Amino acid sequence: MTSTRGDDGNALDLLIVGAGFAGMYMLFKARELGFRARVIEAGDDVGGTWYWNRYPGARCDIESLEYSYGFDEALQQEWRWSERFAAQPEILAYARHVAARFDLRRDITFGARVTRAWFDDAASTWEVGTDGGQALRARFVVMATGCLSSANLPAIPGIETFGGPRYHTGQWPHEPVDFSGLRVGVIGTGSSAVQSIPVIARQARELTVFQRTATYSVPAHNAPLDPAYEARVKADYAGFRRRNERMPAAFGANLDANDASALEATPAERQRRFDERWRAGGLGFTRAFGDIVLDARANALAAAYVRDKIRALVRDAATAALLSPSQPVACKRLCVDTGYYETFNLPHVRLVDIAATGIEAVTPRGVRAAGREFALDALVFATGFDAMTGTLLRMDIRGRGGLPLAEKWRAGPLNYLGLMVAGFPNLFTITGPGSPSVLTNMIVSIEQHVRWIGACLAWLRAHGRSRIEAREAAERDWVGHVNGVASRTIFPGCNSWYLGANVPGKVRVFMPLLGFPAYADKCAAVAAAGYEGFAVA
Ligand code: NAP
Repeated sequence: MTSTRGDDGNALDLLIVGAGFAGMYMLFKARELGFRARVIEAGDDVGGTWYWNRYPGARCDIESLEYSYGFDEALQQEWRWSERFAAQPEILAYARHVAARFDLRRDITFGARVTRAWFDDAASTWEVGTDGGQALRARFVVMATGCLSSANLPAIPGIETFGGPRYHTGQWPHEPVDFSGLRVGVIGTGSSAVQSIPVIARQARELTVFQRTATYSVPAHNAPLDPAYEARVKADYAGFRRRNERMPAAFGANLDANDASALEATPAERQRRFDERWRAGGLGFTRAFGDIVLDARANALAAAYVRDKIRALVRDAATAALLSPSQPVACKRLCVDTGYYETFNLPHVRLVDIAATGIEAVTPRGVRAAGREFALDALVFATGFDAMTGTLLRMDIRGRGGLPLAEKWRAGPLNYLGLMVAGFPNLFTITGPGSPSVLTNMIVSIEQHVRWIGACLAWLRAHGRSRIEAREAAERDWVGHVNGVASRTIFPGCNSWYLGANVPGKVRVFMPLLGFPAYADKCAAVAAAGYEGFAVA
């Protein structure tokens, strides 16, 4: 086993796991503050989610001028996005540009997956091992491992026997995949499926979509980025970023969001607002009124509006009915599409309802579901991720006294501010469970966490301290708070991945926290009070 302790044989100040947007900015911040840091990344390049998710149609649902770093004025001025919503290759190119511009790659080890991180109590350092047998030592570890980075491949009987190629949207090959002339099956109808189905349908001879739960989707109305709008944003980019940081989900300051109640609006006013948001496109649909995710009755009005749209878009009434969801809208992550529902009007596309039966088996020739066998040449699993905790728990992380994280989190993730876990000193999680993360523009959440961690490390150094750990009482209160906030919303009311409900056997706990500004204010107040709720040594 080789041992890397930094160039001079000493432990690193900071070991960062993952070179996506979180890991890249954490490295930049560490360097800026004068800490010796190294990033370990499983992939062969930077980009994280945008490195792995190369499926056809992959695109960001947050507008490009918002889904980008705000930490460097020159960077945000110089980069030109081509479209309102950027596609995966362009976002990956942006990540690569950032890596080159700030010379990040020299402190990143690629092609190495962290498999274990054990805390050495006596030395107050972390020992970290990789799948290649590398061993590193660092005073602090930052898990920049992403919220949606462990693919969920369901354990369907016979899956290994399929005769054709199998793909998971989150582990897409780097070589182009050509579905021309093939009978393709897609399992799943979440965001990845909603984006890929219209694109795959343009190539495939036959497309069969296996749907367990119907999904709500709002049109993207993607278009080339309007240069006049870009110029307006760039004239005061810092101000634009600041306004977005005060939005509930840290995006959409330009949206004309409405805080009024849907229940108090007249039917005509409701129709006008929903029409306006539908025409605008994108996730801002839920901001048509202030109570859509807070009140089940308001939510039902928005849900009925989308179901009307589905009936208008899909010609066959039975297919339209099958595509119409019954759960609250946005309870599962709202999708954003380009021609999703319309794809089911094509003669070579069929929808198979597996709500009652699930997929019964995969066979060498195809898929058995709903009591019959569907012959397929290629199979796409758009079945999502073991979200928020999956990647952390797949590593062997052990804290004080050798306590495994898996044991600590047996009844669900426990932590303080989504940033640190009691019993695991000097270990930070970026956009961890218990923070707003996946309910926000991820890049804004990432930047807020990185700034907080950087300031915390600088504060420890300035105060001659080398160890920080969340207190159990603070952690208990925090988890109670996160659950309390969720219980006042529509979010616990369906089987979403926010609750872990998509992974059989996973503990059902609502993981993200609703409301970015209040959360960011709380983090700032904790720091200003000398890291209240943390034990510092
Ligand atoms: P997902 O939302 O979890 O969707 C997975 C789909 O697979 C669901 O329709 C699910 O059905 C189905 N499924 C799972 N296991 C199954 C099984 N055993 N049998 C049959 N069907 C099964 O995953 P995703 O689409 O990859 O999206 C995950 C998240 O990534 C999104 O919510 C979003 O936050 C993010 N994302 C963002 C973008 C973007 O910005 N544009 C794009 C893609 C993804 P059930 O609903 O019944 O569980």
